[in-house]
Amino acid sequence: RLFTTKTFIPGNPAPRGAALNTKGWLQEAALRMLLNNLDREVAENPEELVVYGGRGKAARSLPDFHNITKALQELDNDESLLIQSGSPVARIKTWENAPRVMIANSNLVGNWANWDHFDELEKKGLMMYGQMTAGSWIYIGSQGIVQGTFETFNEAFHQHYQGKSKGKFIFSAGLGGMGGAQPLAAVLTGACFLGVEVDRKRAEMRLKSRYLDEIYDDIDSAMASLNNHLERGLAKSIAIIGNVVDILPKLLERKDFKPSLVTDQTSAHDPIYGYVPQGYSLEKVEKLRKSNPKLVEKDVLTSIAKHVNCLLELKGRGIPTFDYGNNIRAMAEKAGIQNAFQIRGFVPEYIRPLFCKGKGPFRFAMLSGELSDLKKADAALLNLFSDYEEIQRWLKVASERISVQGLPARILWLGYGDRLKAGLLLNQMVKNGEISCPIVIGRDHLDCGSVASPYRETEGMKDGSDAVADWALLNAFGNIASGASWVSFHHGGGVGMGYSLHAGMVIVADGSDGASERLKRVLTFDPAMGIFRHADAGYETAQNIAYEQMSGKVEENS
Ligand code: NAD
Repeated sequence: RLFTTKTFIPGNPAPRGAALNTKGWLQEAALRMLLNNLDREVAENPEELVVYGGRGKAARSLPDFHNITKALQELDNDESLLIQSGSPVARIKTWENAPRVMIANSNLVGNWANWDHFDELEKKGLMMYGQMTAGSWIYIGSQGIVQGTFETFNEAFHQHYQGKSKGKFIFSAGLGGMGGAQPLAAVLTGACFLGVEVDRKRAEMRLKSRYLDEIYDDIDSAMASLNNHLERGLAKSIAIIGNVVDILPKLLERKDFKPSLVTDQTSAHDPIYGYVPQGYSLEKVEKLRKSNPKLVEKDVLTSIAKHVNCLLELKGRGIPTFDYGNNIRAMAEKAGIQNAFQIRGFVPEYIRPLFCKGKGPFRFAMLSGELSDLKKADAALLNLFSDYEEIQRWLKVASERISVQGLPARILWLGYGDRLKAGLLLNQMVKNGEISCPIVIGRDHLDCGSVASPYRETEGMKDGSDAVADWALLNAFGNIASGASWVSFHHGGGVGMGYSLHAGMVIVADGSDGASERLKRVLTFDPAMGIFRHADAGYETAQNIAYEQMSGKVEENS
């Protein structure tokens, strides 16, 4: 048949509703999620194809973006599209249960796995930084990290303050794509939040999306408002506009600056295109990143050293201070701060027990674009998980407080067994017409069995296997074999080049029986990988789940 392709513009919203632009719902889902990643309501800088996380992109260049959208429109139901670092390189004949898209982003051979080599390749147009969900087309805006941040803050309050958060505040910096989730997550725990952001536009984006309550240009006004909220027991979030390296030393001198938890979400993982050095305006850093990147890098490392010294000072004052996955400790160590790793990582401190149960950031997005479909899904999940106190609490709070960015979506941390139940329920709702269009189900790469990242997800593993990346590869292979709709394998997400390897998967619930079979395989295997990984490393919780739920056997004293 005659098939004319449409041209899409990055920044514009993804198509919605039941009309297909492609030859099948799997291709359609990939197309809509790529466009949704770049929707200006969702992405940090769609004109540059940047989604979040420093320079985390969805496509390598504008021509690549157009070629991808064209290829997805032309792709048959028994073909797969291969994406190499944001560029479509081949359409291959596979079969209907194969992924429609297979993506590899930013992967480099070990000896060359550093920013310098990556930057050279990027300049030549040969590579793109895919971050985690940017290059794998399953970013859902700041919501994607809200629940993880909420769980982390909650667990930290639980461990350090007997669960009491009222009248307390969390201090951090960086209110970008992911960091912008911190103020809302803090407020959801019942605490206040004080953050420093160098780029006013970014803070304003959070204010507009209701992730942030107030913005100030000076410390005195911010502290006066914070103290007022704390005294009244209100949970409110406040941003100060400025460079954290200018602001934090001044805060440290104040008697009323007593945060209860401290962390950071500046893009410290990228010493050229992420962190803004002290003394630089935004215009200056933008210009020098291109004309003199080495100078920027030198000044960034000097600033990060000062920043981490302040964090160490806060830790020294007895305030729980943790790294929140941006590799700031390794950058500070590079800059000569030898005790940077005295600051602990958030995964070993607060998240690993969840990983041992196969728990992680399950998420879904409504291809209909209808908020009413999301509400129906939320209600059905509340009913399905009626015995789970934390899911009840999260879903209620999320549906009230989280504004829609792009296609209506939900993040919901679920473990082994529960992801499958949720996926099948959503597919059934599409099948019987309760939900008007297919649903995309995926997850962050920051998951229990899909990532090797020794300064983050696999920091301090019980058996010392922090840097073993075989598990992440097995995760990608298993998801391809199980029939995920698209599968990706990336290098450098979260913590930067040389520090991580990780896999992503997405599966489409289009209401068909075929989808139901694929969902059974993928949503069993994918979280099971977390159980395999942690059982093998010696974690008892994972070993018990492996025996009791997977093999069907209960072995005493095993
Ligand atoms: P982003 O690039 O969208 O935002 C970073 C923000 O930091 C920007 O708004 C920038 O203006 C601000 N900033 C930079 N230098 C600053 C300075 N000196 N002072 C004050 N503000 C400064 O990145 P993002 O998506 O928000 O991610 C933040 C970091 O967290 C990245 O390193 C990312 O890799 C990491 N990350 C962590 C997790 C996690 O689960 N913990 C998940 C995803 C990403």
